[in-house]
Order: sequence, then C-alpha cells, then structure tokens
Amino acid sequence: MTPRDNHMPTDELRALDAAHHIHPFSDTAQMRARGARVITQAEGVWLTDSEGNRILDGMAGLWCVNIGYGRTELADVAARQMAQLPYYNTFFMTTHPPAVALSAKLAQIAPGDKNRVFYAGSGSEANETNIRLARHYWHLLGHPEKKTIIARKNGYHGSTMGAASLGGMAGMHAQGGMPIPDIVHIDQPHWWAEGGGMSPEEFGLARARQLEEMIDQLGEDKIAAFIAEPIQGAGGVIIPPETYWPEITRICREHHILLIADEVICGFGRTGHWFGTDYYDLDPDIMTIAKGLSSGYQPIGGSIVRESVAQVIEDGGEFNHGYTYSSHPVAAAVALENIRILEEEKVIDRVRSETAPYLQQKWASLADHPMVGEARMAGLMGALELTPEKASRAKFAEEGAVGLMTRERCFANGLVMRHVGDKMIISPPLVISKEEVDRLIELAWQSLDEGMADAREAGAFPA
Ligand SMILES: *Cc1c(COP(=O)(O)O)cnc(C)c1O
Repeated sequence: MTPRDNHMPTDELRALDAAHHIHPFSDTAQMRARGARVITQAEGVWLTDSEGNRILDGMAGLWCVNIGYGRTELADVAARQMAQLPYYNTFFMTTHPPAVALSAKLAQIAPGDKNRVFYAGSGSEANETNIRLARHYWHLLGHPEKKTIIARKNGYHGSTMGAASLGGMAGMHAQGGMPIPDIVHIDQPHWWAEGGGMSPEEFGLARARQLEEMIDQLGEDKIAAFIAEPIQGAGGVIIPPETYWPEITRICREHHILLIADEVICGFGRTGHWFGTDYYDLDPDIMTIAKGLSSGYQPIGGSIVRESVAQVIEDGGEFNHGYTYSSHPVAAAVALENIRILEEEKVIDRVRSETAPYLQQKWASLADHPMVGEARMAGLMGALELTPEKASRAKFAEEGAVGLMTRERCFANGLVMRHVGDKMIISPPLVISKEEVDRLIELAWQSLDEGMADAREAGAFPA
C-alpha cells in the first residue's frame, strides 16, 4: 500500500491503524470503539474522507493551512528543490539558497529590527530554542542567574519537555514530570470565565499585573523572559482585554526581561496582519513561528530574533545548539513559496478588509443561540462559550461533556469545529469565501441546536 492508494476499505484501514499507530492527543478507547476518521484528500477549505464525505475544515488542519489545501505550486517547488538539493545542513559555517532567501524574506516581513532567524522543525522545537536563547543571552551579558521564564496557565507552546513546561496545560504537566525547573506560570487573561465582577478593562490590567507581582516575588535578577501567545489559540481562542498587552509591554521594559511572542498561530495572516505582534502593536525580542509559515505543507518552525539580542549570541562564540533539520532546504523553499502566495494574492489584506469583518458579523449572531454565552473573534480565529445559563456566565457541571457532544454533531454535519472544554473554536483557512462562511455558520447553528438537544437529554442543559 502506498499513501496515494486509497483502495482499501475503510474498516481495513481502521483496523491496521488501531494495530500499529499511536495517535497524538486521542482517547484510544473511544477512537477504537468508533473507528478513526480517515481523511484522504483536500481542496481549498474542504476535506474528503475515505467514504467520500466532504467536510468543511473550520480549523485549517491544526490552525496551519492558511492558504488552503491543494496548492500545487508548493508541490512543484518541493519537487524541484528535492531534485536539486534535497538536504544539506547549515551547521559548521555552511548555508544554501533556500535558507538565505527565506531568512531575508522573514526579516523583511517581521516588524522593526527582528532581522535574524534560527530554524527548527516545529513550533515546539522553536520554543526549546527560545529557552536556550534567552538563558544563554543573559549568561553572556554576565547574569547567569537570570534564567527563570514566566509563562501562563492554559497557554500552549508545544509538546516537548521545555515547550510543554512553558505551556500551562495541567493535563500535560501531569504526564512526564513537568514543568522542568525555572519555569513558572501566571493566570490567563480570560475575562468571560475568570473575570467575575470586574469589567474586562479592569481584569486585563489585573492579570497583566500578576506578571509584575511574580517578578517582584522572584526578583528581577532571576527572570530571563516572559512568553505568551498574542491571542491564546489551543487554550480556547482567548482574546485578552484591550488593557492587557500595553501593561505587559510596560512591565517587560521596566523590569528588563525579554518578551517572547509565540506567533505560531497568530503569525502569517491569522489576525489579518502578518503577525499578532502587528495586530497588537507589540515589540517582542523573539517571535516563535511555525504552522502558517509553510501553511502546514512542510514541517518547519523558527525563532525570529531582534538584531541586538542576536548580536549578543553571535558575539559569544559558538551557540551549541541546532537540529539536523534546521533550515531544511525543501521546507524553506516551500515556506518561501507560501509567503509569495500570501503576498501576491493579497490573502492577508483580504482577511483584514473583507473576510474577517464578514465572518465576525455572522459569528456574533451565534451569541443569540440559547446555549452560547459569548461569541468572540479576532481576525479569523474565534470561540463560542457554551453555557447552561448566559446571564451568570455559568459553567456546565461536567466540564467538556457538552462541548464534546456538540463537536461530534459538527463532524456528523460536515464541519470541523474543535472543542476545548465547553468552548467551540474555529480557525478556518484564510482563503475561505463568503459562501463558505455562510455554510460554516449554518452548520454551526444546526450543530449547536443538536448539541443542545443532546445536552438536554443528558440532563446537562435546562429543559
Ligand atoms: C501548535 C503550537 C505550538 C507547537 O507547534 P508544533 O509544531 O506542534 O510543535 C507552539 N505554540 C503555539 C502557540 C502553538 O499553537
């Protein structure tokens, strides 16, 4: 069987999968009881499964297929690069044209003096690099004790030991001995769930000031960096109140700690700008990139570093760090082609001026649904807060059960909308059309209705 062949019956594929494939983030017992979904091809925003069903991919894969599926230009570039130079490394004072061209391009589109790039194979690896970069930076400046990194509960920064430690996912920390030493967490700026009686503005300030309290508590001379996603993605599209980022920026500056913006989801057009940093007018020292960098067509990530920070590392002799696939030529060539398409087809401009305003208006109408407490969206990433009682912003007794019921209804109706607990989230390809937006909203409303009926039947939603 080659991957292109699709002649096996779905049941046989499922049986082989169950026998030999360990799945990331999957409940194996549940999956085996029902059989894994088998996706065989995709075009634009549409997936096709092994039974021929078409499914609207409201998540762009895992927040990454920004230019949509089926762009053969990327396949052509990959084939050409593989024929010419399939692999060479950039260790030991070597380079190659795809690494040069992609670095120059990223320096051009990244804001301000973010002019240097270190490559990785994924967002997780890039954040591993960031931990080492930030600590090594302070060490070289004569402050080896400045090594603690402050991050946030319910943030997501990847799945390797360092990256998952930066992340604030309790379920991940519980498996495998995380967080690693010298990483601490403050609370997230999630007003709807945690804001209580405060206004969003007051709450945003209060949550930002937790950073200052943590710095004061541990001592500024112990802190290397603060890392955060401009908008939390995997945590449930948590859009901070307006007051949050300006206060965080002030605190990082006044206390001399590096700011790392994890742009793995926000980057490459998701917010209607190149980066979340542009959307919020931030000035981070390091930006983590991956996902939309290649629209998921090749595994590649990296760290875009402020020139003055990079210079300290460069002047410090050899940085004893690198991955075999750092600046992989095929991945770099594909990323460059992806960026060319984003630019030449004005994909990001269209998100900002047309698609995002259109989807946001329709998305907001879902707040009229009896089970939706809030419908929020920034750029093309959005969340619905499901609740048994809107007025009090109440939570369901068993967290996540109604979210899961609703997610299953979405899939059955031909829509990928993910659930994070009882939040329903979307992040469609940036190329989604207005007709497809209309369809997405129709399917979402229908699935909410069915999910609510299921919840009533289970006694989770008032009759
Ligand atoms: C997905 C993600 C990562 C991890 O990227 P991988 O390529 O899965 O390792 C890191 N940070 C954020 C914000 C992400 O969404």
